[in-house]
This record gives sequence, C-alpha cells and structure tokens, in this order.
Amino acid sequence: MSFRNRLYRFMQGRNGVDAFAKFLNRLSLGCLLTAILFTFLSLLFLRHEMIGAYNVFRILYYVVYGIGIALMAYWAFRVFSRNIAKRQKENTRYLYRTQRIRRWFSSKKQEWKDRKTYRYFKCPQCKLRMRAPRHKGKIRVTCKNCSNVFITKT
Ligand SMILES: [Zn+2]
Repeated sequence: MSFRNRLYRFMQGRNGVDAFAKFLNRLSLGCLLTAILFTFLSLLFLRHEMIGAYNVFRILYYVVYGIGIALMAYWAFRVFSRNIAKRQKENTRYLYRTQRIRRWFSSKKQEWKDRKTYRYFKCPQCKLRMRAPRHKGKIRVTCKNCSNVFITKT
C-alpha cells in the first residue's frame, strides 16, 4: 500500500485539518519563531554581560516555547481526534467568533490585490465600503446603502 493510501486509511474517521486547526498551527509556528527571536536577544544581552535582561529573555523564551508546543499538541489532538461531532462544533464556534476579523483581513487582502485598478473608500455618512476604478478623475458617488451623494477622487 502506498504512503498516500495508508495516510488516507489512517485519517478515516478522524477530524483532519479544519480552519481551527490551521489557526492553531499558525499560532504555534508564530510562538516558536518568537522563541527563536528571544534566544537571539538573550544571547545578545549575555554577550554584553547584561545578566538581568538575559534572564528576562531566557524566561520569556521558555514561556513562549512552552505555549508553542502546547498549541502544537492541541493541533495534533484535534486533527487526529475521532470525536468529529465535538471537533466540528469547536470549529464552528471558532469561525463564528472570528468572522469579523477574518472578513477584515480578507477585505484588506482584496484591496491590496486590486490596488492598481481600484480605489477603495467609505461613504462619509454610513461608512459603507465601496470601490471605483482608478484614474477617472473626480466622480460623483451615490451610496447604495443610505443614498448619500458625495464627490471622491479616483
Ligand atoms: Zn452611505
């Protein structure tokens, strides 16, 4: 049996990687990278014989490293868990709680993607986000939400 098939069979009936697991994975990697940074800083302070600062970053290193490992363990627990119903509930709760921030990030990503072709702006009255093609000079906009009319530069 190929590795792929074996993996597939092993993952049968298990939760697998969901959105919450991906989030845990990123958070864990972030912690581990921060831990590496703290190690560098502590060594830098040690070289300058600043023992107080060295100790602080040493402790910070252990704390952040510990959190990173714990998050990774939690990630593995979720991915390989057989209690799929419970894990899905947690995933839904995660998605519900983070929907605003995730929407904000994805809208920023979209703005960045078409920054050359569109200019984004908000209605001055109701703050509705809109976009218009760039390089059209000044345009008159009527807000879809509150019918406010205003002039904006593209
Ligand atoms: Zn408006």
